[in-house]
This record gives sequence, structure tokens and C-alpha cells, in this order.
Amino acid sequence: MDLLSLLASDGYEMKRVAATRGGEYAGPCPFCRDGNDRFRVWPAQGEGGRWWCRKCGKYGDVIQYLREVRGLSFREACDAAGRVVPPSPFWRPKPRPPWEPRRTTPPGDLWQARARQLVEEGGRRLFQPHGQGKKLLDWLQKKRGLSADTIKANRLGLHPQDTWDRPEHWGLEPDLKDTGIPKKLWIPRGLIIPYCQAEHVLRIRLRRPRADGDPRYYLVKGSDTRAMVWGPHQHVKVVVESELDGMLLHQEAGDLAGVVALGNAQT
Ligand SMILES: [Zn+2]
Repeated sequence: MDLLSLLASDGYEMKRVAATRGGEYAGPCPFCRDGNDRFRVWPAQGEGGRWWCRKCGKYGDVIQYLREVRGLSFREACDAAGRVVPPSPFWRPKPRPPWEPRRTTPPGDLWQARARQLVEEGGRRLFQPHGQGKKLLDWLQKKRGLSADTIKANRLGLHPQDTWDRPEHWGLEPDLKDTGIPKKLWIPRGLIIPYCQAEHVLRIRLRRPRADGDPRYYLVKGSDTRAMVWGPHQHVKVVVESELDGMLLHQEAGDLAGVVALGNAQT
């Protein structure tokens, strides 16, 4: 669990800018959701690295990142980071309050409307009895072990070809290239892995075909980065990297434990 790969799976590419304190990296800030170099990361500092935003002033370590950007509890964040939490003498199991998103903010209405359309079309395409849809559905069922019910419940889908959209159609601020031309919003082809809660679509992640190269997983700009959780009220939770693995675990053992998927998978 290192900061640079967490940031990369949240769609924030960091560039090495200096050799100070074991290496310093810079990129856009996940809290400001803006900038090019305001967010600074020192992966060699402390346990798993430290970060600081020059603009909004937020700072912390891996645990803090998992809590604030992924919305994990302290305990879940420690589990995810492989740290041992000393049991508190006062701690005893008690019913948890209903799951509430913590500090992450859901995308705007316009964004969610576009995302919902993508999810609905994608679901229909995935269940088409031929072509790309059938191939992908076979892979999900035979290779990843997911049942049709799980696939539908998680609203997986197929985005058959790369598309580019105007950011303003998603309610996003246009991002200007060096030439001053606004960048289009890229939606690469692949498996659509959305995060839906009730009628809300919080995130669109795409798993791209191997032939399309890196990155394997792509987060559509404007997505919410909170961790995917199944069975939020279970006392025991298993933390996994991959959302597809999380779905499988919930399908097979959902009555025994809750599941938290960080969405860091690279395969
Ligand atoms: Zn910031």
C-alpha cells in the first residue's frame, strides 16, 4: 500500500520533481480536485509516505489518505494498510450507525445523469447474446466467478469503444491543454465498473482490454473516490484491492462478513 499507487488509482498522476527527503512527487490535489503540482508526496517519509497540498493545506499519511479520500474508518484504513490496530480496552462490538459517506462528495446532478446513461446502456450491451457483450459476460462468469445476479446488482456494463465528451456536459470545469484548447473527457472502451448507491451513480471506473495498454483501470474524471462497501453493517470486514474480487467475496460470503474494495487492482 503506497501513496503513489493509491493516487494513481484515483486518477491522480504524480511526477517526480525533486530528490529531497527520499524523493518528492507533485500532481493535482484530490481535495481541491485541481492543479498540476500543488499536491506533494514524499513516498519514503514515515510509514508508507506523507503528503501535503500547498494550496488547501491538507496533509497526512497513508491512513489519513484512506480515511479522507476513500472514506474508510480508522480501523478499515489500518486493515487496508496492513497495520495492526492495538485493541482499545474500551472497545466492544456494538451496532454500527448506518453507512454514511464521510468526507468524499458525490458528483453533481449533471455528472450523475450522464453516468447513469452510460451505466444503463452498458448493462444492456453486456447482456446482448452476441459479440463483445457475450465475450465480456463469459469472462466475468467463467474467469471472475460472478453470477448473473451479482453482475446485475453491481450494474456492470460494456463500453464498446473509446468516446470523448465535452466536460461541460458532465458539469465539469474544462481543463485547458498547454495550447489553450479544452481537453475532452475521455471514456475508454472496456468493462464499466460503476459505484451506485440507490439512485446515485458515484463513480465510473473502466477496466480496459489488455491490448489497449496502460492504465488498466481508468477513473472517469469527476468520479467519487470512496471505497466500495458491501454489507456495511457487518462487524467483520474483509478489505480487498479489486472491486471485482470484492463482488465475488460478497457473493460467496456476504452473510459472514462485509467487504471493502479499495479499487487499486492492476489486473
Ligand atoms: Zn488541495
